[in-house]
Amino acid sequence: MNNPLNRRTFLTQLSAAAIATGLSSIPFISSSKSVNPQKKLGIALVGLGYYSTGILMPALEKTENVKLVGLVTGTPEKAKKYGEKYNIPKENIYNYQNFDEIAKNPSIDVIYIVLPNSMHKEFVIRAAKAGKQVICEKPMALNAAECREMIGACQKAGVSLSIGYRLHYEPYTQRIMQMAKEKPYGDIFMVHASAGWRMGRPTEQWKAKSKLGGGAIMDMGPYPLQAARYSTGMEPIAVTAQMFNSDPKVFDGVDETTTFQLEFPGNIFANCSTTFAANVNFLTINAQKGDYGLNPFSGYNGIHGFLPNGEKFDFPEMNQQAAQMDEMCLAILEKRPCKTPGEEGLRDMIIIDAIRESVRKGGIRIVL
Ligand code: NAD
Repeated sequence: MNNPLNRRTFLTQLSAAAIATGLSSIPFISSSKSVNPQKKLGIALVGLGYYSTGILMPALEKTENVKLVGLVTGTPEKAKKYGEKYNIPKENIYNYQNFDEIAKNPSIDVIYIVLPNSMHKEFVIRAAKAGKQVICEKPMALNAAECREMIGACQKAGVSLSIGYRLHYEPYTQRIMQMAKEKPYGDIFMVHASAGWRMGRPTEQWKAKSKLGGGAIMDMGPYPLQAARYSTGMEPIAVTAQMFNSDPKVFDGVDETTTFQLEFPGNIFANCSTTFAANVNFLTINAQKGDYGLNPFSGYNGIHGFLPNGEKFDFPEMNQQAAQMDEMCLAILEKRPCKTPGEEGLRDMIIIDAIRESVRKGGIRIVL
């Protein structure tokens, strides 16, 4: 089998690398272009919706360490359309029923789960059992308990698990992370972050249904939550939250809008929100010498940075998803942890669980 990954040694080497570097001290800025991989890994996308077909497939035309070689879909028309468009061999196209046979396919090294959130756990575990390296979209799962099961399944199978936090792989976010460490404008006092979009026809969208893992906190909520964590470089110690739903028949058992407040050590606070009711996207960090941040902060492109005294900063446009998949696959090839492993998804889900608990208990403060 022409596979650079020996599953038996992967886990041992991954653990050794994690111990040697410490997951939290992995450098923020890295370049996937500095290494010439032995071969491009083969990736299969599971779920051919908007993000897979509109964003990841075009990004995979730009990647250096990975190429699209497989598809998993429940819709035969999509199998035909995208199979033809990207020259995918018929034997590399699976549906949700025969998916487990992918274990016998040596040309597929990595499986990327891009399904509704309620399906992430099942397919991550099935991919791990098939012996494949796994990437899973955000939010990692429905709750922290599911995340722990997924991490356990990947550890047991000796495969890696990476979460699709694309912003960790783009320069604006990396600059904000660096500022959290270097504090060029003095101590950080407060973070304000909001990400939302105005949802058209919510009755037709799984993102508005609780059964499929919908809700604003699940969809865009991870962005302000992540921003609060990486802008301060700290983990929150307590959370308070409020949820709003203008029409429970339309937003079926989910939050249309969530606001939450995070407390960090040293009296640092984050005021965050996410919504399906408005197009909103900004990150502002209040520091001793003024405000800096990104506006917008979580777009696929078009991000802009600002500094105290009105200065601006910008980087050349790049493809976030290509950088993300290249760096994740380089980490796999080099048998080291990537920047956004399953544990990073778990940290967010622990906080999202606490956000829900706060709301359930009438908006009380939950200590993390
Ligand atoms: P989508 O609705 O466009 O695609 C979902 C796919 O899952 C569709 O192909 C659909 O046919 C398939 N599917 C299988 N079973 C289904 C079921 N029971 N109900 C509904 N669809 C079913 O959604 P999307 O926007 O592509 O989101 C997919 C995942 O990607 C989600 O986890 C989402 O959070 C994530 N996402 C991430 C980003 C990012 O920037 N990282 C952006 C968009 C979406």
